[in-house]
Amino acid sequence: MENSLDVPTLASKYSGIPDRLYNEAVSSKERTQSLKTLPHSRPRGHPAKLPLDTSQDDFDAAITALRKILGDDRVEVNDKPLVDGWYMEHPNTHDAYHILDQEEMVCSAVVYPSSTMDVQAIVKWANEFHIPVYPISMGRNLGYGGAAPNLPGSVVIDLGRNMNKVLRIDGDNASCMVEPGVSYFKLYEEIQKTGLPLWIDCPDVGGGSVLGNAIDRGVGYTPYGDHFANHCGMEIVLPSGELLRTGMGALPGKDGEDNPTWESFQHAFGPSIDGIFSQCNFGIVTKMGFWLMPATGHQSYMITFPREDDFEKIVDTIRPLALKRILGNIPQLRHAIQELAVTGKPRTEWYTGSGMFPREVIRESVSKLPVGEISWVFYGTQYGDDASISSQLSFIKSEFAKIPGSKFYLPSDLPKDHYIHSRVEVCSGVPVLRELDWLNWKPNAAHLFFSPITPTKSKDARTIHDIIERLHQKWGFDLFPTLCVAGREMHYIANIVYDRADEDEKSRARGLMTEMIDAAAKEGFGEYRTHLIFADQVSQTYSWGNGALGKFNEIIKDALDPNGILAPGRNGIWPKKYRKTNE
Ligand code: ADP
Repeated sequence: MENSLDVPTLASKYSGIPDRLYNEAVSSKERTQSLKTLPHSRPRGHPAKLPLDTSQDDFDAAITALRKILGDDRVEVNDKPLVDGWYMEHPNTHDAYHILDQEEMVCSAVVYPSSTMDVQAIVKWANEFHIPVYPISMGRNLGYGGAAPNLPGSVVIDLGRNMNKVLRIDGDNASCMVEPGVSYFKLYEEIQKTGLPLWIDCPDVGGGSVLGNAIDRGVGYTPYGDHFANHCGMEIVLPSGELLRTGMGALPGKDGEDNPTWESFQHAFGPSIDGIFSQCNFGIVTKMGFWLMPATGHQSYMITFPREDDFEKIVDTIRPLALKRILGNIPQLRHAIQELAVTGKPRTEWYTGSGMFPREVIRESVSKLPVGEISWVFYGTQYGDDASISSQLSFIKSEFAKIPGSKFYLPSDLPKDHYIHSRVEVCSGVPVLRELDWLNWKPNAAHLFFSPITPTKSKDARTIHDIIERLHQKWGFDLFPTLCVAGREMHYIANIVYDRADEDEKSRARGLMTEMIDAAAKEGFGEYRTHLIFADQVSQTYSWGNGALGKFNEIIKDALDPNGILAPGRNGIWPKKYRKTNE
Protein backbone atom coordinates (compact mmCIF):
# COMPACT_ATOMS: atom_id res chain seq x y z
CA MET A 1 0.00 0.00 0.00
CA GLU A 2 2.94 2.34 0.68
CA ASN A 3 3.62 2.60 -3.04
CA SER A 4 0.01 3.13 -4.04
CA LEU A 5 -1.98 6.21 -3.19
CA ASP A 6 -4.39 4.28 -1.02
CA VAL A 7 -4.25 4.98 2.73
CA PRO A 8 -5.33 2.56 5.50
CA THR A 9 -8.55 3.59 7.21
CA LEU A 10 -9.45 3.21 10.87
CA ALA A 11 -11.87 0.48 9.88
CA SER A 12 -9.05 -1.61 8.40
CA LYS A 13 -6.19 -0.71 10.75
CA TYR A 14 -5.99 0.63 14.31
CA SER A 15 -3.52 3.30 13.19
CA GLY A 16 -5.50 4.28 10.08
CA ILE A 17 -7.20 7.47 8.98
CA PRO A 18 -10.87 8.17 9.81
CA ASP A 19 -13.21 8.17 6.80
CA ARG A 20 -13.86 11.90 7.18
CA LEU A 21 -10.18 12.58 6.35
CA TYR A 22 -9.64 9.87 3.74
CA ASN A 23 -9.63 12.10 0.65
CA GLU A 24 -7.44 14.68 2.33
CA ALA A 25 -4.99 11.93 3.34
CA VAL A 26 -4.80 10.59 -0.20
CA SER A 27 -4.02 14.01 -1.65
CA SER A 28 -1.55 14.77 1.13
CA LYS A 29 0.24 11.49 0.41
CA GLU A 30 0.16 12.22 -3.30
CA ARG A 31 1.82 15.62 -2.82
CA THR A 32 4.53 14.16 -0.59
CA GLN A 33 5.18 11.25 -2.97
CA SER A 34 5.47 13.60 -5.92
CA LEU A 35 8.46 15.26 -4.22
CA LYS A 36 10.14 12.00 -3.35
CA THR A 37 13.36 11.02 -5.10
CA LEU A 38 14.38 8.27 -2.68
CA PRO A 39 13.38 4.72 -3.65
CA HIS A 40 10.59 2.96 -1.75
CA SER A 41 13.31 0.77 -0.20
CA ARG A 42 16.80 -0.51 -0.90
CA PRO A 43 18.52 -3.81 -0.14
CA ARG A 44 20.14 -3.58 3.29
CA GLY A 45 23.75 -2.39 3.04
CA HIS A 46 24.76 -3.70 6.48
CA PRO A 47 24.03 -6.89 8.38
CA ALA A 48 20.84 -6.65 10.49
CA LYS A 49 21.61 -5.23 13.93
CA LEU A 50 21.76 -7.52 16.94
CA PRO A 51 21.22 -6.50 20.56
CA LEU A 52 24.43 -5.18 22.13
CA ASP A 53 26.80 -7.89 23.42
CA THR A 54 24.63 -10.66 21.91
CA SER A 55 25.97 -13.23 19.45
CA GLN A 56 23.90 -14.40 16.49
CA ASP A 57 23.45 -17.83 18.16
CA ASP A 58 22.28 -16.32 21.45
CA PHE A 59 19.91 -14.01 19.59
CA ASP A 60 18.45 -16.89 17.57
CA ALA A 61 17.95 -18.93 20.74
CA ALA A 62 16.25 -15.97 22.45
CA ILE A 63 13.94 -15.39 19.47
CA THR A 64 13.00 -19.06 19.35
CA ALA A 65 12.10 -18.90 23.05
CA LEU A 66 10.06 -15.73 22.51
CA ARG A 67 8.16 -17.36 19.65
CA LYS A 68 7.33 -20.28 21.93
CA ILE A 69 5.87 -17.89 24.51
CA LEU A 70 3.84 -15.68 22.14
CA GLY A 71 3.45 -17.60 18.88
CA ASP A 72 5.37 -17.27 15.62
CA ASP A 73 3.14 -14.60 14.15
CA ARG A 74 3.82 -12.17 16.96
CA VAL A 75 7.60 -11.97 16.62
CA GLU A 76 9.26 -10.49 13.52
CA VAL A 77 13.01 -10.31 12.97
CA ASN A 78 14.04 -7.02 11.38
CA ASP A 79 16.15 -8.29 8.49
CA LYS A 80 14.16 -7.08 5.48
CA PRO A 81 14.71 -3.86 3.50
CA LEU A 82 13.66 -0.80 5.52
CA VAL A 83 10.70 1.23 4.31
CA ASP A 84 10.28 4.81 5.55
CA GLY A 85 6.69 4.86 4.30
CA TRP A 86 4.50 7.86 4.84
CA TYR A 87 2.96 9.37 8.00
CA MET A 88 -0.12 7.10 7.98
CA GLU A 89 2.01 4.05 7.07
CA HIS A 90 5.00 4.60 9.31
CA PRO A 91 7.46 1.77 10.09
CA ASN A 92 8.05 0.18 13.50
CA THR A 93 11.55 -0.99 12.57
CA HIS A 94 13.49 2.28 12.54
CA ASP A 95 13.27 6.07 12.58
CA ALA A 96 11.37 6.99 9.40
CA TYR A 97 12.85 10.51 9.70
CA HIS A 98 16.40 9.19 9.92
CA ILE A 99 18.93 11.83 10.77
CA LEU A 100 21.77 9.28 10.80
CA ASP A 101 22.14 6.53 8.20
CA GLN A 102 18.74 4.86 7.70
CA GLU A 103 20.18 1.57 8.99
CA GLU A 104 21.65 3.07 12.16
CA MET A 105 18.68 3.53 14.53
CA VAL A 106 17.05 0.13 13.95
CA CYS A 107 15.71 -2.68 16.08
CA SER A 108 16.71 -6.34 15.80
CA ALA A 109 13.13 -7.59 16.04
CA VAL A 110 9.59 -6.46 16.82
CA VAL A 111 7.23 -8.26 19.20
CA TYR A 112 3.47 -7.74 19.39
CA PRO A 113 1.87 -8.35 22.81
CA SER A 114 -1.93 -8.67 23.01
CA SER A 115 -2.36 -8.12 26.74
CA THR A 116 -0.69 -6.81 29.86
CA MET A 117 0.15 -10.43 30.69
CA ASP A 118 1.98 -10.74 27.38
CA VAL A 119 3.97 -7.60 28.19
CA GLN A 120 4.92 -9.13 31.55
CA ALA A 121 6.00 -12.33 29.81
CA ILE A 122 8.15 -10.35 27.31
CA VAL A 123 9.84 -8.45 30.11
CA LYS A 124 10.61 -11.69 31.97
CA TRP A 125 12.01 -13.15 28.74
CA ALA A 126 14.22 -10.03 28.29
CA ASN A 127 15.60 -10.50 31.81
CA GLU A 128 16.28 -14.17 31.21
CA PHE A 129 18.09 -13.63 27.90
CA HIS A 130 19.58 -10.21 28.77
CA ILE A 131 18.05 -8.61 25.68
CA PRO A 132 17.30 -4.86 25.73
CA VAL A 133 13.67 -4.08 24.84
CA TYR A 134 12.13 -0.79 23.72
CA PRO A 135 8.36 -0.12 24.05
CA ILE A 136 6.45 2.00 21.57
CA SER A 137 2.74 2.76 21.54
CA MET A 138 2.22 3.83 17.91
CA GLY A 139 5.78 4.79 16.99
CA ARG A 140 4.70 8.09 15.43
CA ASN A 141 6.93 10.16 17.64
CA LEU A 142 8.32 11.71 14.46
CA GLY A 143 10.86 14.47 14.97
CA TYR A 144 11.94 12.86 18.24
CA GLY A 145 13.02 9.42 16.97
CA GLY A 146 9.84 7.79 15.65
CA ALA A 147 9.73 4.08 16.40
CA ALA A 148 13.49 3.71 16.72
CA PRO A 149 14.95 2.21 19.87
CA ASN A 150 17.39 4.37 21.73
CA LEU A 151 19.93 1.55 21.71
CA PRO A 152 20.18 0.10 18.17
CA GLY A 153 19.53 -3.65 18.07
CA SER A 154 17.01 -3.60 20.94
CA VAL A 155 13.80 -5.57 20.47
CA VAL A 156 10.89 -3.18 19.92
CA ILE A 157 7.71 -4.01 21.85
CA ASP A 158 4.99 -2.69 19.55
CA LEU A 159 2.16 -2.31 22.04
CA GLY A 160 -0.30 -0.61 19.73
CA ARG A 161 -0.96 -3.26 17.11
CA ASN A 162 -2.95 -5.56 19.38
CA MET A 163 -3.62 -3.32 22.41
CA ASN A 164 -5.67 -0.50 20.95
CA LYS A 165 -8.98 -0.35 22.78
CA VAL A 166 -10.72 2.60 24.34
CA LEU A 167 -11.48 0.73 27.55
CA ARG A 168 -13.93 3.21 29.11
CA ILE A 169 -15.54 6.53 28.37
CA ASP A 170 -17.22 8.10 31.39
CA GLY A 171 -19.67 10.71 30.12
CA ASP A 172 -20.63 11.91 33.62
CA ASN A 173 -17.11 12.50 34.87
CA ALA A 174 -15.67 13.40 31.44
CA SER A 175 -12.83 10.92 31.43
CA CYS A 176 -11.58 7.86 29.60
CA MET A 177 -9.16 4.96 29.93
CA VAL A 178 -7.15 3.87 26.88
CA GLU A 179 -4.62 1.30 25.72
CA PRO A 180 -1.34 2.30 24.00
CA GLY A 181 -2.57 1.86 20.40
CA VAL A 182 -5.40 4.39 20.62
CA SER A 183 -4.61 7.34 18.37
CA TYR A 184 -6.20 10.79 18.66
CA PHE A 185 -8.08 9.93 15.47
CA LYS A 186 -9.50 6.80 17.04
CA LEU A 187 -10.39 8.33 20.43
CA TYR A 188 -12.19 11.17 18.66
CA GLU A 189 -14.23 8.76 16.51
CA GLU A 190 -15.11 6.56 19.51
CA ILE A 191 -16.37 9.57 21.43
CA GLN A 192 -18.42 10.73 18.44
CA LYS A 193 -20.09 7.29 18.37
CA THR A 194 -21.27 7.76 21.97
CA GLY A 195 -22.81 11.14 21.11
CA LEU A 196 -21.39 12.53 24.37
CA PRO A 197 -20.52 16.26 24.35
CA LEU A 198 -16.84 15.66 25.11
CA TRP A 199 -13.65 16.95 23.53
CA ILE A 200 -10.22 15.43 23.35
CA ASP A 201 -7.04 17.49 23.21
CA CYS A 202 -4.85 16.68 20.22
CA PRO A 203 -1.42 17.78 18.96
CA ASP A 204 -0.98 19.30 15.49
CA VAL A 205 -1.45 15.98 13.70
CA GLY A 206 -3.85 13.33 15.04
CA GLY A 207 -2.04 10.05 14.25
CA GLY A 208 0.01 9.72 17.46
CA SER A 209 -0.88 7.61 20.47
CA VAL A 210 -2.84 9.42 23.19
CA LEU A 211 -0.95 7.43 25.83
CA GLY A 212 2.49 7.61 24.15
CA ASN A 213 2.28 11.35 23.62
CA ALA A 214 1.25 11.97 27.23
CA ILE A 215 4.10 9.95 28.72
CA ASP A 216 6.51 11.77 26.43
CA ARG A 217 4.89 14.97 27.82
CA GLY A 218 3.60 16.24 24.49
CA VAL A 219 1.28 19.23 24.20
CA GLY A 220 -1.95 20.17 22.46
CA TYR A 221 -3.90 23.40 22.18
CA THR A 222 -7.18 23.39 24.14
CA PRO A 223 -7.26 24.27 27.86
CA TYR A 224 -6.35 20.57 28.38
CA GLY A 225 -3.19 20.99 26.29
CA ASP A 226 -0.71 19.72 28.88
CA HIS A 227 -1.28 16.03 28.20
CA PHE A 228 0.58 14.61 31.15
CA ALA A 229 -1.11 17.06 33.55
CA ASN A 230 -4.49 15.83 32.31
CA HIS A 231 -3.84 12.12 32.70
CA CYS A 232 -5.32 10.32 35.67
CA GLY A 233 -4.04 6.87 36.62
CA MET A 234 -1.75 4.38 34.91
CA GLU A 235 -1.15 0.65 34.78
CA ILE A 236 2.54 -0.17 34.43
CA VAL A 237 4.60 -3.29 33.84
CA LEU A 238 7.84 -2.79 35.77
CA PRO A 239 11.18 -3.99 34.37
CA SER A 240 10.94 -6.98 36.74
CA GLY A 241 7.65 -8.01 35.12
CA GLU A 242 5.61 -7.00 38.17
CA LEU A 243 2.45 -4.98 37.68
CA LEU A 244 1.68 -1.62 39.28
CA ARG A 245 -1.31 0.70 39.24
CA THR A 246 -0.83 4.35 40.17
CA GLY A 247 -3.25 6.84 41.71
CA MET A 248 -6.55 5.49 42.99
CA GLY A 249 -6.02 2.42 40.81
CA ALA A 250 -3.79 1.10 43.62
CA LEU A 251 -6.89 0.56 45.73
CA PRO A 252 -8.82 -2.50 44.55
CA GLY A 253 -12.41 -1.78 43.50
CA LYS A 254 -15.32 -3.79 44.87
CA ASP A 255 -15.54 -7.43 43.74
CA GLY A 256 -12.40 -7.22 41.58
CA GLU A 257 -13.60 -4.19 39.60
CA ASP A 258 -11.23 -1.33 38.70
CA ASN A 259 -11.32 1.37 41.36
CA PRO A 260 -14.22 3.75 40.57
CA THR A 261 -12.09 6.83 41.35
CA TRP A 262 -9.11 5.74 39.21
CA GLU A 263 -9.76 8.35 36.48
CA SER A 264 -11.05 10.99 38.96
CA PHE A 265 -8.21 11.68 41.40
CA GLN A 266 -4.56 11.72 40.35
CA HIS A 267 -2.56 11.36 43.53
CA ALA A 268 -4.08 8.81 45.93
CA PHE A 269 -2.15 8.30 49.19
CA GLY A 270 1.60 8.60 49.71
CA PRO A 271 4.17 9.85 47.22
CA SER A 272 2.82 10.79 43.83
CA ILE A 273 4.89 8.58 41.56
CA ASP A 274 3.28 9.03 38.14
CA GLY A 275 5.82 11.64 37.06
CA ILE A 276 8.74 9.20 37.15
CA PHE A 277 7.02 7.09 34.52
CA SER A 278 7.05 9.91 31.97
CA GLN A 279 10.07 10.45 29.66
CA CYS A 280 11.86 7.54 31.30
CA ASN A 281 12.75 3.88 31.09
CA PHE A 282 11.30 2.77 34.42
CA GLY A 283 8.21 0.93 33.19
CA ILE A 284 5.90 0.05 30.30
CA VAL A 285 2.52 1.75 30.48
CA THR A 286 -0.30 -0.56 29.39
CA LYS A 287 -3.32 1.56 30.38
CA MET A 288 -3.77 5.22 31.12
CA GLY A 289 -6.69 7.38 32.20
CA PHE A 290 -7.36 10.87 30.79
CA TRP A 291 -9.63 13.79 31.54
CA LEU A 292 -11.78 14.93 28.64
CA MET A 293 -12.99 18.47 28.18
CA PRO A 294 -16.75 19.13 28.27
CA ALA A 295 -17.68 20.59 24.89
CA THR A 296 -18.21 24.35 24.94
CA GLY A 297 -18.50 27.36 22.67
CA HIS A 298 -15.25 28.43 21.06
CA GLN A 299 -13.84 31.16 18.87
CA SER A 300 -10.45 31.00 17.22
CA TYR A 301 -8.68 34.12 16.00
CA MET A 302 -5.42 35.28 14.50
CA ILE A 303 -3.42 38.44 15.14
CA THR A 304 -0.63 39.53 12.81
CA PHE A 305 2.28 41.84 13.57
CA PRO A 306 4.19 43.76 10.92
CA ARG A 307 7.71 44.09 12.31
CA GLU A 308 10.33 41.48 13.16
CA ASP A 309 11.22 43.57 16.21
CA ASP A 310 7.68 43.45 17.55
CA PHE A 311 8.75 40.14 19.10
CA GLU A 312 9.52 41.59 22.56
CA LYS A 313 6.29 43.56 22.70
CA ILE A 314 4.26 40.53 21.65
CA VAL A 315 5.81 38.35 24.37
CA ASP A 316 5.26 40.98 27.06
CA THR A 317 1.66 41.41 25.94
CA ILE A 318 1.07 37.66 26.04
CA ARG A 319 2.47 37.17 29.57
CA PRO A 320 -0.15 38.98 31.69
CA LEU A 321 -2.94 37.63 29.50
CA ALA A 322 -1.63 34.10 29.97
CA LEU A 323 -0.93 34.50 33.70
CA LYS A 324 -4.42 35.81 34.39
CA ARG A 325 -5.80 32.96 32.29
CA ILE A 326 -7.52 35.39 29.97
CA LEU A 327 -6.00 33.51 27.03
CA GLY A 328 -8.27 30.51 26.78
CA ASN A 329 -6.00 27.89 25.29
CA ILE A 330 -2.35 27.10 24.64
CA PRO A 331 -1.91 29.68 21.88
CA GLN A 332 0.90 29.72 19.35
CA LEU A 333 3.14 32.53 18.22
CA ARG A 334 4.68 31.69 14.86
CA HIS A 335 6.96 33.40 12.42
CA ALA A 336 5.57 34.61 9.09
CA ILE A 337 7.62 31.98 7.23
CA GLN A 338 5.22 29.34 8.59
CA GLU A 339 2.41 31.03 6.68
CA LEU A 340 4.34 30.01 3.58
CA ALA A 341 5.07 26.48 4.78
CA VAL A 342 1.45 25.68 5.73
CA THR A 343 0.28 26.45 2.22
CA GLY A 344 1.80 23.04 1.39
CA LYS A 345 3.83 24.51 -1.46
CA PRO A 346 7.54 23.74 -1.83
CA ARG A 347 10.17 26.26 -0.73
CA THR A 348 11.23 26.74 -4.34
CA GLU A 349 7.88 28.37 -5.00
CA TRP A 350 9.28 31.45 -3.26
CA TYR A 351 13.04 31.08 -2.99
CA THR A 352 15.64 28.96 -4.73
CA GLY A 353 18.77 30.21 -2.96
CA SER A 354 20.76 28.04 -0.56
CA GLY A 355 21.29 28.97 3.09
CA MET A 356 18.63 30.43 5.36
CA PHE A 357 15.50 31.84 3.73
CA PRO A 358 16.19 35.61 3.94
CA ARG A 359 13.83 37.82 5.95
CA GLU A 360 13.26 40.22 3.05
CA VAL A 361 12.13 37.33 0.86
CA ILE A 362 9.79 36.08 3.60
CA ARG A 363 8.20 39.52 3.85
CA GLU A 364 7.89 39.89 0.13
CA SER A 365 6.45 36.37 -0.26
CA VAL A 366 3.85 36.67 2.52
CA SER A 367 2.80 40.04 1.16
CA LYS A 368 1.28 38.08 -1.74
CA LEU A 369 -0.84 36.01 0.69
CA PRO A 370 -4.13 37.26 2.20
CA VAL A 371 -2.34 38.18 5.48
CA GLY A 372 -0.15 40.73 3.72
CA GLU A 373 3.33 41.87 4.74
CA ILE A 374 3.79 40.56 8.27
CA SER A 375 6.54 39.18 10.50
CA TRP A 376 4.73 37.30 13.32
CA VAL A 377 1.36 35.56 13.66
CA PHE A 378 -0.49 34.70 16.88
CA TYR A 379 -3.14 31.96 16.83
CA GLY A 380 -5.48 31.83 19.85
CA THR A 381 -8.90 30.45 20.85
CA GLN A 382 -11.35 31.58 23.53
CA TYR A 383 -14.00 29.37 25.15
CA GLY A 384 -17.37 29.69 26.83
CA ASP A 385 -20.72 31.22 25.93
CA ASP A 386 -21.06 33.98 23.34
CA ALA A 387 -21.13 36.79 25.89
CA SER A 388 -17.97 35.69 27.70
CA ILE A 389 -16.09 34.99 24.47
CA SER A 390 -16.99 38.43 23.21
CA SER A 391 -15.81 40.20 26.38
CA GLN A 392 -12.57 38.16 26.47
CA LEU A 393 -11.91 38.94 22.83
CA SER A 394 -12.48 42.64 23.14
CA PHE A 395 -9.93 42.80 26.00
CA ILE A 396 -7.38 40.66 24.11
CA LYS A 397 -7.87 42.79 20.99
CA SER A 398 -7.36 46.03 22.88
CA GLU A 399 -4.15 44.74 24.51
CA PHE A 400 -2.58 43.58 21.23
CA ALA A 401 -3.80 46.72 19.45
CA LYS A 402 -1.18 48.61 21.48
CA ILE A 403 1.40 47.10 19.09
CA PRO A 404 1.28 49.44 16.08
CA GLY A 405 0.16 47.82 12.86
CA SER A 406 -1.20 44.62 14.48
CA LYS A 407 -4.30 43.20 12.81
CA PHE A 408 -7.00 40.98 14.24
CA TYR A 409 -8.78 38.31 12.12
CA LEU A 410 -11.60 35.87 12.70
CA PRO A 411 -11.70 32.70 10.57
CA SER A 412 -14.58 34.20 8.61
CA ASP A 413 -12.24 37.03 7.51
CA LEU A 414 -9.90 34.59 5.78
CA PRO A 415 -10.21 32.36 2.70
CA LYS A 416 -11.53 28.82 3.12
CA ASP A 417 -8.13 27.22 2.50
CA HIS A 418 -6.31 29.36 5.07
CA TYR A 419 -4.55 27.45 7.83
CA ILE A 420 -6.68 29.11 10.53
CA HIS A 421 -9.54 26.74 9.71
CA SER A 422 -7.35 23.82 10.71
CA ARG A 423 -6.50 25.62 13.99
CA VAL A 424 -10.24 26.01 14.66
CA GLU A 425 -10.55 22.22 14.56
CA VAL A 426 -7.47 21.39 16.63
CA CYS A 427 -8.44 23.99 19.23
CA SER A 428 -11.90 22.47 19.59
CA GLY A 429 -10.70 18.90 19.94
CA VAL A 430 -10.92 17.66 16.34
CA PRO A 431 -7.74 15.85 15.20
CA VAL A 432 -6.47 16.86 11.74
CA LEU A 433 -3.79 16.10 9.17
CA ARG A 434 -3.12 19.53 7.71
CA GLU A 435 0.15 20.19 9.54
CA LEU A 436 1.77 17.52 7.38
CA ASP A 437 1.77 20.11 4.59
CA TRP A 438 5.03 21.42 6.02
CA LEU A 439 6.72 18.37 4.64
CA ASN A 440 6.28 19.56 1.09
CA TRP A 441 8.90 22.21 1.81
CA LYS A 442 11.68 20.00 0.46
CA PRO A 443 11.93 16.70 -1.43
CA ASN A 444 12.13 13.62 0.86
CA ALA A 445 11.43 15.96 3.74
CA ALA A 446 11.74 14.93 7.35
CA HIS A 447 11.85 17.09 10.45
CA LEU A 448 13.62 17.33 13.74
CA PHE A 449 12.54 19.42 16.71
CA PHE A 450 14.68 21.67 18.89
CA SER A 451 12.45 22.39 21.89
CA PRO A 452 13.83 24.63 24.63
CA ILE A 453 11.69 26.21 27.36
CA THR A 454 11.78 29.97 27.92
CA PRO A 455 10.05 32.10 30.53
CA THR A 456 7.29 34.20 28.93
CA LYS A 457 9.51 37.27 29.22
CA SER A 458 10.82 39.31 26.34
CA LYS A 459 14.46 39.33 27.46
CA ASP A 460 14.67 35.53 27.78
CA ALA A 461 12.63 34.88 24.66
CA ARG A 462 14.89 37.24 22.71
CA THR A 463 18.05 35.55 24.03
CA ILE A 464 16.96 32.07 22.99
CA HIS A 465 15.50 33.27 19.69
CA ASP A 466 18.76 35.03 18.79
CA ILE A 467 20.82 31.91 19.56
CA ILE A 468 18.55 29.76 17.44
CA GLU A 469 18.44 32.23 14.58
CA ARG A 470 22.20 32.77 14.54
CA LEU A 471 22.88 29.03 14.46
CA HIS A 472 20.26 28.31 11.80
CA GLN A 473 22.00 30.95 9.71
CA LYS A 474 25.42 29.41 10.40
CA TRP A 475 24.34 25.86 9.49
CA GLY A 476 22.20 26.97 6.55
CA PHE A 477 18.64 26.04 7.63
CA ASP A 478 15.37 27.90 7.38
CA LEU A 479 14.08 28.88 10.81
CA PHE A 480 10.51 27.86 11.70
CA PRO A 481 9.84 29.01 15.26
CA THR A 482 6.57 28.12 16.98
CA LEU A 483 6.18 29.32 20.56
CA CYS A 484 3.49 27.41 22.46
CA VAL A 485 2.42 29.51 25.43
CA ALA A 486 1.58 27.62 28.60
CA GLY A 487 1.53 30.63 30.98
CA ARG A 488 4.74 31.44 32.78
CA GLU A 489 6.73 29.63 30.12
CA MET A 490 6.70 28.97 26.41
CA HIS A 491 7.80 25.83 24.61
CA TYR A 492 9.94 27.24 21.77
CA ILE A 493 9.70 24.61 19.04
CA ALA A 494 12.12 25.09 16.13
CA ASN A 495 11.23 22.67 13.37
CA ILE A 496 14.31 21.75 11.34
CA VAL A 497 13.16 20.44 7.95
CA TYR A 498 15.76 18.44 6.04
CA ASP A 499 16.06 16.24 2.95
CA ARG A 500 16.60 12.58 3.91
CA ALA A 501 18.44 11.97 0.65
CA ASP A 502 21.02 14.66 1.34
CA GLU A 503 23.79 13.38 3.63
CA ASP A 504 25.38 16.80 3.92
CA GLU A 505 22.08 18.31 5.03
CA LYS A 506 21.58 15.57 7.62
CA SER A 507 25.05 16.11 8.98
CA ARG A 508 24.47 19.87 9.17
CA ALA A 509 21.15 19.30 10.95
CA ARG A 510 22.99 17.24 13.58
CA GLY A 511 25.64 19.93 13.89
CA LEU A 512 22.96 22.57 14.31
CA MET A 513 21.18 20.59 17.04
CA THR A 514 24.39 19.87 18.94
CA GLU A 515 25.47 23.48 18.88
CA MET A 516 22.03 24.82 19.81
CA ILE A 517 21.76 22.48 22.81
CA ASP A 518 25.12 23.67 24.17
CA ALA A 519 24.64 27.35 23.36
CA ALA A 520 21.18 27.38 24.95
CA ALA A 521 22.42 25.58 28.07
CA LYS A 522 25.22 28.15 28.52
CA GLU A 523 22.49 30.79 28.84
CA GLY A 524 20.45 28.60 31.20
CA PHE A 525 17.91 27.21 28.70
CA GLY A 526 17.10 23.51 28.46
CA GLU A 527 14.98 21.30 26.21
CA TYR A 528 11.75 19.75 27.43
CA ARG A 529 12.11 16.81 25.04
CA THR A 530 14.54 15.77 22.35
CA HIS A 531 15.28 13.33 19.55
CA LEU A 532 16.80 10.07 20.84
CA ILE A 533 20.26 10.74 19.45
CA PHE A 534 20.59 13.95 21.49
CA ALA A 535 19.22 12.51 24.75
CA ASP A 536 22.63 12.10 26.40
CA GLN A 537 23.72 15.61 25.51
CA VAL A 538 20.47 17.18 26.73
CA SER A 539 20.36 15.17 29.95
CA GLN A 540 23.93 16.24 30.71
CA THR A 541 22.93 19.90 30.48
CA TYR A 542 20.74 19.32 33.56
CA SER A 543 23.93 19.17 35.61
CA TRP A 544 23.17 21.29 38.69
CA GLY A 545 24.62 19.96 41.95
CA ASN A 546 27.27 17.83 40.27
CA GLY A 547 24.65 16.04 38.17
CA ALA A 548 22.34 15.33 41.14
CA LEU A 549 19.27 14.76 38.97
CA GLY A 550 21.04 12.28 36.70
CA LYS A 551 22.39 10.37 39.70
CA PHE A 552 18.93 10.21 41.26
CA ASN A 553 17.52 8.80 38.01
CA GLU A 554 20.30 6.19 37.94
CA ILE A 555 19.49 5.09 41.50
CA ILE A 556 15.86 4.53 40.49
CA LYS A 557 16.90 2.81 37.27
CA ASP A 558 19.25 0.39 39.01
CA ALA A 559 16.69 -0.40 41.70
CA LEU A 560 13.86 -1.10 39.25
CA ASP A 561 15.87 -2.59 36.39
CA PRO A 562 19.01 -4.30 37.74
CA ASN A 563 19.61 -6.15 34.44
CA GLY A 564 19.21 -2.92 32.45
CA ILE A 565 16.78 -4.45 29.94
CA LEU A 566 14.26 -1.62 29.52
CA ALA A 567 15.10 1.08 26.94
CA PRO A 568 18.71 1.56 28.07
CA GLY A 569 19.77 5.18 27.61
CA ARG A 570 16.25 6.53 27.02
CA ASN A 571 16.30 10.20 28.09
CA GLY A 572 19.97 9.82 28.98
CA ILE A 573 19.28 7.30 31.76
CA TRP A 574 21.71 4.39 31.42
CA PRO A 575 21.52 1.32 33.63
CA LYS A 576 24.64 0.35 35.57
CA LYS A 577 25.77 -2.28 33.05
CA TYR A 578 26.06 0.31 30.25
CA ARG A 579 27.54 3.19 32.22
CA LYS A 580 31.10 4.11 31.33
CA THR A 581 32.19 4.31 34.96
CA ASN A 582 30.69 1.34 36.77
CA GLU A 583 31.22 2.66 40.30
P1 ADP B 1 3.46 8.36 19.45
O1 ADP B 1 2.54 8.58 20.57
O2 ADP B 1 3.86 9.67 18.85
O3 ADP B 1 3.05 7.38 18.44
P2 ADP B 1 5.50 6.56 20.47
O4 ADP B 1 4.63 5.40 20.57
O5 ADP B 1 6.62 6.51 19.50
O6 ADP B 1 4.75 7.88 20.15
O7 ADP B 1 6.01 6.92 21.92
C1 ADP B 1 6.93 7.92 22.15
C2 ADP B 1 8.02 7.39 23.07
O8 ADP B 1 7.48 7.18 24.36
C3 ADP B 1 8.56 6.03 22.64
O9 ADP B 1 9.69 6.19 21.85
C4 ADP B 1 8.87 5.34 23.94
O10 ADP B 1 10.17 5.64 24.37
C5 ADP B 1 7.90 5.94 24.90
N1 ADP B 1 6.71 5.10 25.06
C6 ADP B 1 5.66 5.06 24.22
N2 ADP B 1 4.72 4.24 24.68
C7 ADP B 1 5.18 3.74 25.83
C8 ADP B 1 4.61 2.88 26.80
N3 ADP B 1 3.39 2.40 26.65
N4 ADP B 1 5.35 2.58 27.90
C9 ADP B 1 6.57 3.11 28.05
N5 ADP B 1 7.14 3.97 27.18
C10 ADP B 1 6.46 4.28 26.08
